[in-house]
Amino acid sequence: MIDQARVILKERFGYEAFRPGQEEVIGAVMAGRDVLAVMPTGAGKSLCYQIPALMLDGLTLVVSPLVALMKDQVAALRLAGVAADGIHSGHQRQDNVAAWRRAAGGQTHLLYMSPERLTSERMLAALARLPVRLLAIDEAHCISQWGPAFRPEYAELGRVREALPGVPMIAMTATADGITRDDIAARLFGGAVKQIILGFDRPNIALSVMPKKRENLQIVEYVRARPGQSGIVYCLSRRKTEEVATLLSSRGVRALPYHAGMEAHERETNQSIFMSEQAVVIVATIAFGMGIDKADVRYVLHADLPSSIDTYYQEIGRAGRDGEPAEACMLYGFSDIRMRRQFIENEDAGDERRMREHKRLDALLGYCEAPVCRRLTLLRYFGESGEPCGNCDCCLTPGELVDGTVYAKKIMSAVLRTGERFGAAHLIDILLGNRTEKILRFRHQTLPTHGVGKDLSKPVWQSLIRQLVAAGHLRLDIAGYGGLALTESGRQLLNGGGEFRYRIDGGRPIKTRQRTSVTAPVDSEDIDLLGRLKTLRRDLANELGVPAYRVFSDRTLSDMVEKRPSNESEFAQIHGVGTAKLSAFSEPFLKVINSPPNARDQAAPTV
Ligand code: ADP
Ligand code: ZN
Repeated sequence: MIDQARVILKERFGYEAFRPGQEEVIGAVMAGRDVLAVMPTGAGKSLCYQIPALMLDGLTLVVSPLVALMKDQVAALRLAGVAADGIHSGHQRQDNVAAWRRAAGGQTHLLYMSPERLTSERMLAALARLPVRLLAIDEAHCISQWGPAFRPEYAELGRVREALPGVPMIAMTATADGITRDDIAARLFGGAVKQIILGFDRPNIALSVMPKKRENLQIVEYVRARPGQSGIVYCLSRRKTEEVATLLSSRGVRALPYHAGMEAHERETNQSIFMSEQAVVIVATIAFGMGIDKADVRYVLHADLPSSIDTYYQEIGRAGRDGEPAEACMLYGFSDIRMRRQFIENEDAGDERRMREHKRLDALLGYCEAPVCRRLTLLRYFGESGEPCGNCDCCLTPGELVDGTVYAKKIMSAVLRTGERFGAAHLIDILLGNRTEKILRFRHQTLPTHGVGKDLSKPVWQSLIRQLVAAGHLRLDIAGYGGLALTESGRQLLNGGGEFRYRIDGGRPIKTRQRTSVTAPVDSEDIDLLGRLKTLRRDLANELGVPAYRVFSDRTLSDMVEKRPSNESEFAQIHGVGTAKLSAFSEPFLKVINSPPNARDQAAPTV
């Protein structure tokens, strides 16, 4: 069985070997089991149902939450010569009808549908008449109310299952804290499902966190220290993505914005430039990412705090998919924490959900202030264990932990004496003995704590307060004005119970690592050839109306440059070349590869 899967992997998709987890998942699906596969972004989840779909006779129905994602997958499959179709709001009605007919007529192997299309009684009855052999649920965490991306339509998917008795189901997600996992298992499978969970460790990603100081400067310095690399800068707001992209452009960086508020064609253009070229920085909201599949993203910089460790993990998972060293850095400050708390409070959700969201955020802050290896902190969050990575900022420049109980008490006393409603900036003014307008207005210069903290500088006090928050001794006001209050453990500490140890440095300078991409050709002839291959790829992609990377990935082009195939059978050995792409593309690419370097006449595309 698995041999047949391997043949399909090579012939259809042009890959030599399975990645970790894929074989196990495919094996379980082919044995007719229900499977919940939890694998990190980039692990290759799609093939886990696509290959069984090709091995099974009949139809595989795929439920996916995003039209863009479906289009992308369908285009990729068709390029691989697989009969795939999509039914969703991104198509005209008559196209959807035609797709349905093809599926009903047994012509389709994989049919992608959005969840809201699937749940009407009529549709359920119609589905029961299709030759469905496998049901695949992509981004399955959307079913969980506790997950960060709940989609009400997903809650109805249990009914699709009922309409297809006896059809095995595979659900896939990259989001996997225990709660969400169990929730998916319960809602989709009634609890009984084989869970296949792949490790969360991505040791090639070096993790670091920087406190926000002069944000714009920090962003520019970070990006400029990594010239020639592809990177993603995540921002919280649409406006900020535009501003940061403009700022970076003004400093000579090729930076493009990406957010859901942009014109669709502009957004797609930016995405496709990012995907097909090197050294482009995309400055994006979280709208950018689902289904992003660029192998050589060298860093992900979060200019703002993400919403949880789960989303952070997914977002940084876009770096270093080629397995080469990559970096994930996060900037964070108080204003971010306040904004996040506000988001949660303003969310139209029940108290229980809000509580959980606040807890999730607390866990993220714990990560930001981690006194030990960041990777360990992440792994522990996902219920795994490991050794210190030796590759994160905490491992490389461990901050010394010292006793800060006295300072903690000074802070907490200032918090209590001012009524637990002021934010960090004002509290620090009090400790430093400043006489600001606000201090005078509230007569805080008369407090016994006024001026008791002159021995430390403002940044150190800020760091101390952040660490007190992260340690759970102080709580940032949930109503969202940034006021600090004591928690139960804070009260105990203040009353003499225990010790507070803190990290001296409030953030370390990040190392700048100059590295050249391993796949980057050095030879000028190679560079010339790669350029011509990219031009051809772009033209073909335009002609076919798909993003360039769907024709061939950068890795595939580099492989061509390296191996210089001279005929079809050599071309078939290139990474990412399956049977369909071989017959569609080998001719024009071979022509370019085998024409002399300065013969600029482009091979005419033949597809
Ligand atoms: P996920 O959905 O888990 O984030 P994808 O299914 O989009 O990941 O796969 C990520 C990329 O890895 C895709 O380009 C896919 O073609 C590629 N890929 C998947 N499996 C393999 C494999 N066994 N060998 C090489 N590349 C693979
Ligand atoms: Zn570490």
